[in-house]
Amino acid sequence: MNSEMNLRCTVFEYQCQHCGKRFKAPVYTGSGYGQFLMRNYVSGHHVWLDVFSDDVINEMDQLISAHPAVSSLGENAQSDIFQKIVGYLYDPDSEGNYYGIGIDPQCPFCNAHQAKSFREVFPNEYMELSVVRITARQWKQMSQDEKIEKINQLIQGIIM
Ligand SMILES: [Zn+2]
Repeated sequence: MNSEMNLRCTVFEYQCQHCGKRFKAPVYTGSGYGQFLMRNYVSGHHVWLDVFSDDVINEMDQLISAHPAVSSLGENAQSDIFQKIVGYLYDPDSEGNYYGIGIDPQCPFCNAHQAKSFREVFPNEYMELSVVRITARQWKQMSQDEKIEKINQLIQGIIM
């Protein structure tokens, strides 16, 4: 089952690139490497990705790294591309909107997703965020060729 878990997040203050207003949003700064709080591109809702217990991410990583436009890149550039596209390989929400790693939170004033700056609130504030794991039902139903083609389209989309 996809049970909810509570994450202790640090509150950050963001300034919106679009309207300039400031707002607060939770950021997961916890155990770090391999664990990501993914944000929805449209709704701003969160899901949880734990690389160590996820059963499809190694396969996604291998297929992305094997792509001809990626395989010759350095490690940082490869992980950059990986972070940009991996959210599109998992399931979107019920409205069909995808989640991503490292997505800026949505501005509550103008709905933009681009932060001009952000910083930890001081004195520190924390909040509990209830999240479920991201699922990969669509991915698991795809053939190997379909997976490679989907990754190819996503990579074309960010490289072009
Ligand atoms: Zn704004």
